[in-house]
Amino acid sequence: MTTKTLGTRAVTRPVEAGSTTACAACGLPVKFKAKARLTQVIANVYVDGHWDRVEHYHSECYETVGQPYGSAA
Ligand SMILES: [Zn+2]
Repeated sequence: MTTKTLGTRAVTRPVEAGSTTACAACGLPVKFKAKARLTQVIANVYVDGHWDRVEHYHSECYETVGQPYGSAA
């Protein structure tokens, strides 16, 4: 699957306390857990060269959907 879009980048970040963002892959919240050092993938999505939106993924989900924005840095 090639959905490579110019300018779109994905990065890995720790999940922050209070985060309630829904995962773009599974729809469940990307929740902070005190006992687990979870990471999320944040993708700044560009459409036609213009910033369009931010998508959040559980790190596992991002792998599952085949890393649509490339490997997360
Ligand atoms: Zn998910």
